[in-house]
Amino acid sequence: MNHSPIGILGGTFDPIHLGHLRIAQEALEQCDLGQVRFIPGGTPPHRAAPAASAAQRLEMVVRAIHGNPQFVVDAREVMRSDPCYTVDTLDELRAELGVEQSLCLILGGDAFLQLHTWHEWHRLFALAHIVVLQRAGGLPLGNAMKLADAALQAEYQARLAPGAQVLHETPGGAIFVADMPALEISATDIRRRCAIGKSIRYLTPDTVTDFINSNSLYRSC
Ligand code: ATP
Repeated sequence: MNHSPIGILGGTFDPIHLGHLRIAQEALEQCDLGQVRFIPGGTPPHRAAPAASAAQRLEMVVRAIHGNPQFVVDAREVMRSDPCYTVDTLDELRAELGVEQSLCLILGGDAFLQLHTWHEWHRLFALAHIVVLQRAGGLPLGNAMKLADAALQAEYQARLAPGAQVLHETPGGAIFVADMPALEISATDIRRRCAIGKSIRYLTPDTVTDFINSNSLYRSC
């Protein structure tokens, strides 16, 4: 395979924060990815509408990754008005990038444990690898999986890769677990702090903090 694996980090990014940037960086380094594509979600099928507009969430991602040539933004989902599933986005990327390109869907451990609830989730493995970031200090993913959905457990056991090399040798189908320092940062907590007039400095990049403050975002969440 000629091209380095491409990481894909989807999220609502309402707003993007240092936890998101750090999982992208950990995945990039531990998997030796060529780039990470940040894909802010459009209309989320599973959850309430985001507080910030699609254009604002996209702008915050652009600001957050500015200056890092290995981080790129992909606006395809926020451009769509209809509900968009990750499997649809991966179908599109696979068609654009070809059958040989290694694609790695990057997920936090909490997101991975809910994977069985995603639309056409079995098909995700035909389209990409999954890189799961397990947080230091938390329940190791292997233990958490014992309590997970049975079908997800079966996929995990069948697909778990001992090292990142497989991400470079095949286009998709493996699960690789990478490590992540525990950063107790969430978009929900950031919105809550804004709503009660607290500072969010050092939870997001300064450029994002400035954008949130100058646009009075999340004041009434
Ligand atoms: P919200 O609080 O609104 O639910 P969030 O901060 O969890 O948002 P999402 O956009 O839902 O952000 O998450 C996108 C991805 O980033 C998911 O895979 C999630 O597991 C991961 N993620 C978010 N915050 C962290 C964090 N602090 N550490 C590790 N992974 C994270």
